[in-house]
Amino acid sequence: MKTELYIDGAFVAPANGETLPAIDPATEQVFAEVAAGGGIDIDCAVRAARRAFDAGVWSEQPASERAVALRRIASGIRDNLDQLAALETRDNGKPLPEAQWDIEDAAFCFDYYADLAEADAAQPVRTIDVGDIRFDSHVLREPVGVVAAITPWNFPMLIAVWKLAPALAAGCCVVLKPSELCSMTCHALAGIIDKAGLPAGVFNLVTGVGTDAGASLSEHPLVDKVAFTGSVATGRRVMQAASAGIRTVSLELGGKSPFLIFDDCDIDKAVEWILFGIFWNKGEVCSATSRVLVQRGIYERLIARLTEVTEAIKIGPGDQPDVKLGPIVAKSQYDKILGFLERARDSGARLVTGGGRAEGFEMGYYIAPTIYADVPLEAEIWREEIFGPVVCVNPFDTEEEAVRLANDSPYGLAAAVMSDDLERCDRVATKLRAGIIWINCSQPTFTQAPWGGYKSSGIGRELGREGFDAFLETKQVTRFDHKETWGWYLEPELGQ
Ligand code: NAD
Repeated sequence: MKTELYIDGAFVAPANGETLPAIDPATEQVFAEVAAGGGIDIDCAVRAARRAFDAGVWSEQPASERAVALRRIASGIRDNLDQLAALETRDNGKPLPEAQWDIEDAAFCFDYYADLAEADAAQPVRTIDVGDIRFDSHVLREPVGVVAAITPWNFPMLIAVWKLAPALAAGCCVVLKPSELCSMTCHALAGIIDKAGLPAGVFNLVTGVGTDAGASLSEHPLVDKVAFTGSVATGRRVMQAASAGIRTVSLELGGKSPFLIFDDCDIDKAVEWILFGIFWNKGEVCSATSRVLVQRGIYERLIARLTEVTEAIKIGPGDQPDVKLGPIVAKSQYDKILGFLERARDSGARLVTGGGRAEGFEMGYYIAPTIYADVPLEAEIWREEIFGPVVCVNPFDTEEEAVRLANDSPYGLAAAVMSDDLERCDRVATKLRAGIIWINCSQPTFTQAPWGGYKSSGIGRELGREGFDAFLETKQVTRFDHKETWGWYLEPELGQ
C-alpha cells in the first residue's frame, strides 16, 4: 500500500516522489509506504488553503452548512470505525480497545464542534457599553484564517481531530502535518473528508518528516496560526519559526504529571488509577501520571499491590485479546526508553519491577511495565518525560510536602489527587500548578472540557469552548452614531 498527499481537493504524489515506511511495531515489518512530502508540497498546500480561505468558500458559508459537512465527516468515521481502529493499532501498537476509543472520540469531536458552531452563530452579536452614547460598539468573532496543524504519533488521528474539528467549525482552512512515525489514519481521514464534499483547499494533508515538511509549514508566511502538539524541544522551534511572521501559536507539549495518593484511600482503587495513569496507551501519553506520591502510612503496602497487579498485565500485539500493553511505537522511541532505564541503574532509585525489554518476544518493541521507588528528586527518571510505561513512586508525610513535591517540575500539564476527604482534594486541586486536575481518578478526557498545560507544558487550550475560541479572531466594530460633527478641528454642529 502506498499513500498520497491530499492537496486542493485531490490526492497527489509528493513532488520529490519520496516515501517513508509505515512499520508495525509488533512485528517490525513495513506494511505501507507513506508519501513523504517536503517544502514544495507544503507550499502548494498552504497556497490552496489560502486561496480557499480568501475566496470565502468555507468561512463565509453559514455555520449550519459547515455543521452539516462536519457531521458527514463524523458519520464517515463511524462507518469505518473498525478499519480505522485496526489501522491505528497496526501503525501505533496501542491495544485495539484503546484505538476504538480514539476513533469514537474523533467522530464525537466533529459532532460536538458542529453543534458548537451552530449554537455560536445563533448568539446575538455582543454589544459593548463604551460609556459614550454617541458610539455604538460591538464584537465580531471571525475565523483566524489558514491553520497549520502539526501533530504527534501517540494519538495520531484523535489529536489531529482535536485541531481539525474546531478549526473547520470556526471556518478556518487547514494544512495537517501528522507525525512521520504514524500517519496512516490521518491519510484514511483525508479520504473521509474528501467524500464529505468540503470545497477544495479547505482541508489539506501533507505527510512527511518534521524537519522538512513540519519546519516548512511552521515557517510559511501565508499561515495565520500554528496549532502544534509534540515535544517541548520541537515546540520551541515552532514558536521561534512563528515569531518571524508574528503568527499565533498554540502549543500542547509534554508533561511529568504527579499523582498524590493520601493514606485514607482504598488501595485497590488507587492501584487501578495509578496503573491506568501510566500504562494505558503504553505510557505514551502527555498527561500520564508518571510521578506517584504516596503518603507514608500506605507506601509499602501500595507498592506491593501495584507490583503484583503490574506483573500480571498482559503484554503483546495490540490486536490480541486482553492485551493491556502493546509495543512501543517505533525503534527510536523504544531505544530512548531503554536509555532512560539504563541510566536509572546509577540513579539511586530502587527498581521494583521491569526495567528493560519485556520477556518472551522475538520481534517487536516491547518494554516491561516498570516501577521505581525511593527515587532521588534530582534523578532523570523523576524529572524528565520518558513517554513510556515507566512510573516512579516516592513517599510523603504531609499535604504541604506532597503539594511542594508535585509542583517541583518545569511541566504543568496535569495532576491527580486521591483521598476520601473531598475537601482536601478540592484544596489540593487549587494548589497544584497544572492545567488539568483529576480527583480520585487519572486520565479521563472529555471533548467538552478544556485541555492544556501550565509552565513548559504549553500555551493555549484545546477541546471544549476554549478549543473553538482558539480558532477565532476577535474584531471590534465601533460606529460613530451621532448627528454632530466630532468637534476636534471644527466646532460641533448638527449635521445636515
Ligand atoms: P515531536 O516534537 O518529535 O513531533 C511532533 C510533530 O512535530 C511531528 O509531526 C513532527 O514531525 C513535527 N516536527 C518535528 N520537527 C519539527 C520542526 N523542526 N518543525 C516543525 N515540526 C516538526 O513529538 P512526538 O515525539 O511526535 O510526540 C511526543 C511528544 O508530544 C511528547 O513530549 C508528548 O508529551 C507530547 N504530546 C503532548 C500532548 C498534549 O496535549 N499536551 C499530546 C500528545 C503528545
